[in-house]
Amino acid sequence: MTDVLAAFEAAKGFMPVDEGLALYAAAKEAAAGLGLPLLEVGTYCGRSTILLADAARSAGTVAVTVDHHRGSEEQQPGWEYHDASLVDPATGRMDTLPQFRRTLYAAGLEDDVIAVVGRSPQVAKLWRQPLGLVFIDGGHTDEHAGADFEGWAPLVAEGGLLVVHDVFPDPADGGQAPYRVYRRALSGGDFTEVSATGSLRVLRRVRGVRGVRG
Ligand code: SAH
Ligand code: MG
Repeated sequence: MTDVLAAFEAAKGFMPVDEGLALYAAAKEAAAGLGLPLLEVGTYCGRSTILLADAARSAGTVAVTVDHHRGSEEQQPGWEYHDASLVDPATGRMDTLPQFRRTLYAAGLEDDVIAVVGRSPQVAKLWRQPLGLVFIDGGHTDEHAGADFEGWAPLVAEGGLLVVHDVFPDPADGGQAPYRVYRRALSGGDFTEVSATGSLRVLRRVRGVRGVRG
């Protein structure tokens, strides 16, 4: 095995190590337990994708990661999380796809990931396969985070995991959209909380029809 955690730490992205370890543990459990694909919304440069990919590989399944690769609101020029090295000089737009491919190549995990370039709700609409884990780490507005939940949570198989990043119960710590998604998942009764690490929440589907939209 290549050193997955070293590759994770070397990759550009937005996930601290403790949260990465929690995501990795959830991914390994879901992949081994259910043998179903793991899906991520919000690839960026592949930092968290590495963890899902390695967990999927060990269980003989695959990680799917969805991103339009144009960056979220807060990653655009002039905003707090902008990285000028990720602007494509030919278009002047953000393009994280080349850096993502370098990350996967360096980690030796290219064969374990299916990268989908597109808008999350459009991809979700076409998707029918049940999933062992869905990791929501895309856009942080209510519009985007809410659509990610509505599009993908119904595809989490019974016993599978729904993981949400950037959950901040206190508005002083960050935006509230992922927190509202987390609350919605719990209040619907289909999911129960498994663990909380930093802003990462792991929930399990305990009820609901496997892979079938309501
Ligand atoms: N998981 C990454 C960080 C993701 S940042 C890591 O661990 O480092 C959020 C990403 O979501 C950005 O790359 C942005 O382009 C993408 N994104 C935001 N809204 C989206 C949408 N509606 N559909 C697809 N991708 C989206
Ligand atoms: Mg995040």
